[in-house]
Amino acid sequence: MRFREQLIEKVKNAGVVGAGGAGFPTHVKINARAEIVIANGAECEPLLCTDQRTMETAADEIVSGVKLVMEAVGAGQGIIAVKAHYHEAVKSLSQAAASEKNIRLHEMGNYYPAGDEHVLVLDAAGRIIPEGGLPLHVGVLVNNVNTLLNIHRAFHGEPVVRQRITVCGEVNWPRVLRVPIGVSFKDLIALCGGARIEDYVILVGGPMMGRLAGDCGEPVTKTTSGIIVLPKDHPYVMRRSRTVATEARMSKSICEQCRYCTDFCPRWLQGHSLEPHKIMRVIDYDRDLDTDTITRAFLCCECGVCDLYACPMALSPRVVFREFKGRLAGAGIKNPHSRSGLAQDQYRDYRKIPKDRLIQRLGLKEYDVHPEWEERDFPFTNVKIPLRQHIGAAAVPVVKTGDKVKQGQLVGEIPEGKMGARVHASMDGTVAEVNGRYVGIESR
Ligand code: SF4
Ligand code: SF4
Repeated sequence: MRFREQLIEKVKNAGVVGAGGAGFPTHVKINARAEIVIANGAECEPLLCTDQRTMETAADEIVSGVKLVMEAVGAGQGIIAVKAHYHEAVKSLSQAAASEKNIRLHEMGNYYPAGDEHVLVLDAAGRIIPEGGLPLHVGVLVNNVNTLLNIHRAFHGEPVVRQRITVCGEVNWPRVLRVPIGVSFKDLIALCGGARIEDYVILVGGPMMGRLAGDCGEPVTKTTSGIIVLPKDHPYVMRRSRTVATEARMSKSICEQCRYCTDFCPRWLQGHSLEPHKIMRVIDYDRDLDTDTITRAFLCCECGVCDLYACPMALSPRVVFREFKGRLAGAGIKNPHSRSGLAQDQYRDYRKIPKDRLIQRLGLKEYDVHPEWEERDFPFTNVKIPLRQHIGAAAVPVVKTGDKVKQGQLVGEIPEGKMGARVHASMDGTVAEVNGRYVGIESR
């Protein structure tokens, strides 16, 4: 078997999925050809330090992951994108890559959304991805640094059973931890000294693109980069809790068509024809027949710049785009926009959003504490391992209640002929529950 097929097989066996986004199965992603491989260590979400601490503590493994992927996809160039002010991470990565003449560091400014794939590919490799396109359309493959760490481990036979995660906000001891997949948010918060307040909500992921958790029993998955405990009545939380109907009502009465949302939109600034102020016009004046504007919803990456930073009236074109995206997909309509050969806006560099200013704008400055990494494994008594932690079909359980399992043992298989990812036991124990959603394991 050639190296490329070998790596794909090992990554598939280990259940690696994209750690920095929605969890696209990595064995599918690396089954490609590319000229450049980028390690995404930009971590632009405010308050999270997971990628930063990973780069500080696992630089050799990340560089190894980059080399493995470069060889598999035939890339002649590797770029590790890291914030210039992450001094420890820059130092560790520079040392790890010192003898690699085809791999270089790209040191970035502290702006949002530096980690968005389109932004990253332009800033690190100088290539603009077409509308509705992927980095591969311009010969680039992007992987998050934690995914590359998992690829390195997969190559050495280790499945993905633990997750690095930032826990911060209203907890007594904010920190970055490595925990078994399937541990509940409640147990994580307890591990961090408990919540400092009674009435709280949990933000999963960062403040810009994360979501509010349904309940604290939700489990950590392969894509959970952080949880942030926030007061239920925090203005940020109230704002993120608004429904699309409320957004529409508010827009009709207060959208002033100033177009700041468009002027700051990272996709518009790369030449994409995404104009959020126009989608507000559609709902303000009931222009449902403006399908050209409505279908541009497909170009929105939901970065949150328009609503959480740019709009002076605190309106959310993002929520409106998301609503239209859902309706269009439900009606079987696909993205018709695919312009290429684009040019960036002349003011793009001046409209990158300084992260400190963004945190101030979000009202979250008091939680910007840069948690430290804690290098140890913690004992947990139970986990619920979701069978779908990725894009694609849910895994099919291959264990039953009462089975004894060992950490790393396969508990969920990819359904025959479908795209998906394998799932493994994240601790030794007995299978306590198996259903269509998860495999529960207890340490008895
Ligand atoms: S920035 Fe806000 S007020 Fe201005 S056009 Fe966009 S949604 Fe309307
Ligand atoms: S969320 Fe807003 S700023 Fe971000 S891509 Fe979509 S329209 Fe543009």
